[in-house]
Amino acid sequence: MAKKNIKCTFCGRPADQSEMIVPSPISDSYICAECVSELDEALKSFRDGAKAAATKDGGDVKDLGSVPRPREIFDFLNQYVIGQESAKRYLSVAVYNHYKRLSQPKDDDVDIEKSNIIIVGPTGTGKTLLAKTIARLLDVPFTIVDATVLTEAGYVGEDIESLLTRLLQAADYDVAKAERGIVFIDEIDKIARKGDNPSITRDVSGEGVQQGLLKLLEGSVVNVPPQGGRKHPEQRMIPVDTKNILFICGGAFDGIERKIAQRLNTHMVGYSNNVQRGKVDRENFLQYVAPQDLKSFGLIPEIIGRLPILTHLEPLDRDALRRVLTEPKNAIIRQYEKMFAMDGVKLTFTPEALDLIVDKAIEYKLGARGLRSIVESIMIEPMFEVPSSKVKKFEVTADYALERLKESNFETSQYK
Ligand code: ADP
Repeated sequence: MAKKNIKCTFCGRPADQSEMIVPSPISDSYICAECVSELDEALKSFRDGAKAAATKDGGDVKDLGSVPRPREIFDFLNQYVIGQESAKRYLSVAVYNHYKRLSQPKDDDVDIEKSNIIIVGPTGTGKTLLAKTIARLLDVPFTIVDATVLTEAGYVGEDIESLLTRLLQAADYDVAKAERGIVFIDEIDKIARKGDNPSITRDVSGEGVQQGLLKLLEGSVVNVPPQGGRKHPEQRMIPVDTKNILFICGGAFDGIERKIAQRLNTHMVGYSNNVQRGKVDRENFLQYVAPQDLKSFGLIPEIIGRLPILTHLEPLDRDALRRVLTEPKNAIIRQYEKMFAMDGVKLTFTPEALDLIVDKAIEYKLGARGLRSIVESIMIEPMFEVPSSKVKKFEVTADYALERLKESNFETSQYK
């Protein structure tokens, strides 16, 4: 091609109007000297900005006096989450310690290392709720991400680094701020290796992902796609240091009870401990969960080592479910009362009606998550009729609730 026909692929400047034009080694494109020097300027100011943000880091963390103490965090969680004392305590301490680490001067001899957390608990017992409630209280960026979408680089799904995209977004792309944030990784059990033995075949969604995650957990600089995913291959990656990012992982670990029971049984033969003295609560094995059970479940030891705080959630019993309905600050029943009040109607539920709702949630094995769909099925009709009627009071009795549930086909619905 004659030189006069060559143009800069970036700005379209013809070659003969440029000081110099450079061909791409891999494609039929060119860049001119003018574009290169503009890019150079842009890169310099980007690096200066990042440096300024990095030196600000630590300095603009609140002094420890003004951050909530573990007890206060615990009390705050109590307003929204029923039960789960042990997990609340662990979380309160972990968040407070996170603040401690952030307020530490950079030149301190004793470097407080972060303690990432793993919460094991049946689905619908409050893992996400705990994480969301914590987020209300924090003034560091916080995000909830799902581990199920992750796959090893090169496979269909999301790269591990994209976990941090959401955190960057939560921090308004302020990298220094994101580097002090908290990431809640939900469904961490879904990336467990299937089976106890390291597999010979490649395990796309398992071990490879865990290895990738390890890099984030242990603290390293990773290149984060600012828009996430792989749909924008042209996007400029943003380097993010995960050293100070606190990771809270949650998972249901279905079937881990069996592993715990197995371990406890083998122990009983050996040493004298509580379990041997017959104190083991066979109804709730989860309370004895230990790191080795996570390993039997399929998490690699390196990951477990990077999640030093292990806590569990209790299954919600009848009493807890009943409290979930009415006690939390934004309890389901309160939400409906509020909606009716907006139409000038006082809504009440008789205690028997509330008991019935709980009974149905248990009967259909829906747990706390089912409470809402049951109440919704009961309330759809009055929510439709009451606003255009003259009623000022509306009481939901057990009989009425049962009638509505039958009417809405709830009893024959897919839940059964
Ligand atoms: P998961 O453990 O599967 O993450 P969630 O936290 O999403 O469960 O719980 C689902 C819903 O059930 C919540 O939105 C909340 O309304 C209710 N819920 C679950 N556990 C509790 C709890 N311990 N206290 C109050 N509400 C709860």
